[in-house]
Amino acid sequence: MPPIHLIWFAAATLLGSPALAQEKVLNLYSARHYQTDEALYSNFTRQTGIRINRIEGKEDELLERIKNEGANSPADVFITVDAARLAQADALGLFAAVKSKRLEERIPAHLRSTDWFAFSTRARVILYNKAAVNPDDVRNYEDLANPKLKGKVCVRSGAHPYNLSLGSALIHHLGEQKTEEWAKGLVANFARAPKGGDTDQIRAVAAGECGVTISNTYYIARLLRSDKPADRQAMEKVGVVWPNQKSFGTHINVSGGGLLKTAPHKEAAVLFLEYLADDEAQAYFANGNNEWPVVKSAAAKNPALESLGSFKADSLNVGTLSKNTATAQKIFDRAGWR
Ligand code: FE
Repeated sequence: MPPIHLIWFAAATLLGSPALAQEKVLNLYSARHYQTDEALYSNFTRQTGIRINRIEGKEDELLERIKNEGANSPADVFITVDAARLAQADALGLFAAVKSKRLEERIPAHLRSTDWFAFSTRARVILYNKAAVNPDDVRNYEDLANPKLKGKVCVRSGAHPYNLSLGSALIHHLGEQKTEEWAKGLVANFARAPKGGDTDQIRAVAAGECGVTISNTYYIARLLRSDKPADRQAMEKVGVVWPNQKSFGTHINVSGGGLLKTAPHKEAAVLFLEYLADDEAQAYFANGNNEWPVVKSAAAKNPALESLGSFKADSLNVGTLSKNTATAQKIFDRAGWR
């Protein structure tokens, strides 16, 4: 590893040197990168005169980078996906508390913590092969552990944050013991050992290799909107269920971000977070990844998502989701959900 001052020099060169401190800039570390980002960021610059330096990378790499840069990090705002990752950054003490009336008014209380804010939501739903599975057999997450589905379940690794956050929600609603029984039943129903991401599972369900799976909604929307006919044909073979509509509601997760404790441009950072809660910015942010805006008045107009219909979402606070992720990991490990 090079000495600290060299890292700082490299960062300063990249992100605007201290000599130019007068210039209004914001250094954004983002794990999101979508087509709508250009409009999202340039509108902020047009409104405020603040230029955005973007550092984009994979979720875990960016978090590592901010940690390693320490007090010298040029990062002002960190944006990433999944409440478990946001909570991890929070647990490392990377975020500073933001007191903003605007954000409190715009973002529902269950979609923010004291230190970070959700800016879009996605749901984790059940998909089934229409020819092989009766949707009435898969109305709830709990149903996936029913021996009726033996040899039919495909799902990505139990170590992935999406499943750990789901496990955390289940622990909250069902308790540890029932969640463990569920995980064991789920594993006993596996059609194959976990491999690949959510999209791979959906394709396997469409191909009949599996009967049922769990996926985030934006992967479904991507396939529905795909310019490859094979993707759209695959989606005709699968049905989507909003889980747990008669109990706690479908598990949702978020994309979000916060102000970093070491931010050199704190004022600009708070302005940017507030900007992300504006109606227009909300639509860009949500549409970039086929998600839903967190602000009610923002219209995202996404026909693929709308085609899935409306649903009752779990209202569990996303800031508390992380409380049970370590327990969820232990439970999944014991159940053999690798
Ligand atoms: Fe994803």
